[in-house]
Amino acid sequence: MVIRADTQVYKGQVFYRIGNLPYINRKGREVVIEHWRSSCLKCDELFTFTLPQRGEFSPKRHCDIHKKKSRLKVLRTHEVA
Ligand SMILES: [Zn+2]
Repeated sequence: MVIRADTQVYKGQVFYRIGNLPYINRKGREVVIEHWRSSCLKCDELFTFTLPQRGEFSPKRHCDIHKKKSRLKVLRTHEVA
């Protein structure tokens, strides 16, 4: 299994690995998930998230507040129209 470096740059945004967490998957097996930290692209607020250790590195890029904003914007546009 490929172990990722503790620092990743994804589309110009920097991510730091805080650590790995043991996790029980649906089959009852213990697997490891990675715990990552970065700062929101919009407000610079620190946030953390977890990712599976396998597969592509597809990180979150915004804090919880700003990840929902795009959905609100779509609703608002719909109301006006
Ligand atoms: Zn934010």
